[in-house]
Amino acid sequence: KRYTKEKEKIEKYGRLKFDDIKIMANISVPQEIEVAKRKGADGIGLFRTEFLFVGRDNPPSEEEQYLVYKKALETFYPEEVVIRLLDIGGDKKLEYLPVDDEENPFLGLRGIRLLLKHKEILKTQLRALLRASPYGNLSVLVPMVTLPEDIKGLLRIIHETKEDLLTEGRKIGSFKLGIMVEVPSIIWLIDKINPHIDFVSIGTNDLTQYIFAADRNNPSVSKYYQDEHEIIFEIITTIAEKARNFNLPVSVCGELAGKEDAVEILLQFGVKKFSVSSFKVPFIKRKIYEIQTVKKGNMKAKTSDDPSLLS
Ligand code: PEP
Ligand code: MG
Repeated sequence: KRYTKEKEKIEKYGRLKFDDIKIMANISVPQEIEVAKRKGADGIGLFRTEFLFVGRDNPPSEEEQYLVYKKALETFYPEEVVIRLLDIGGDKKLEYLPVDDEENPFLGLRGIRLLLKHKEILKTQLRALLRASPYGNLSVLVPMVTLPEDIKGLLRIIHETKEDLLTEGRKIGSFKLGIMVEVPSIIWLIDKINPHIDFVSIGTNDLTQYIFAADRNNPSVSKYYQDEHEIIFEIITTIAEKARNFNLPVSVCGELAGKEDAVEILLQFGVKKFSVSSFKVPFIKRKIYEIQTVKKGNMKAKTSDDPSLLS
């Protein structure tokens, strides 16, 4: 009983809204859209669309995808919904998309690298996303960007897809395009793609795996996989500085963003957007509330419906 009371108390923090900080949700399946909303997420910061594609014998149709994306955009409107292009490869395989056996799948055909080789899958997903774009709160996120060529190749296909849809008489809205910063090379190439992107999102799970050369799923090397190591924070500072120079908003969407101790450090580096598992949203909001209350000696946060909520 005491546990339930405590849980209810924490859940209330989900209703907090901060002036300049957003706590968004990472989701994987359509059912999580409502859960994220209930937990008080300020939008969706990472929709891992691969879960719409796995565990079946054929890819989801354009219409099926469109309906899911539309539901997410409608549920959270006007807050931002960041939908990531299919991030398959690495440890995730699709029955209907045979790829050659790879000795090092995490260093192989994964994310945007694979999409650029299987343009039909990419085009169908882009069509569904562009059809949902008139809602106005869509952001599209590109996984595993390694070189500027990845973005250039994608832009060509986005352009073709737009032309096709317009020829069919469909409406297209505006949307933002962003990249996952999770492959180290791209950190020093942001200046080359800056004109083409609107935001960056730091994926600390893969970034950690690629910085320490330690498979994120291999327990034998787990001691090398240290996502709270000081060099990870140093790298995040570098990314945040570069992003600031180019006026690109930056968010953190890896597991690190949902670790309470890390949040305080990330805030100091100027990170203002965090995307965490839905159930963690109220905990992270509570943490930020506590930091702000202690630091400023007053209540910076406000709730939309009940200011005395937390008293
Ligand atoms: C990441 O790599 O940090 C990330 C958020 O994406 P995923 O865990 O889906 O690879
Ligand atoms: Mg990743």
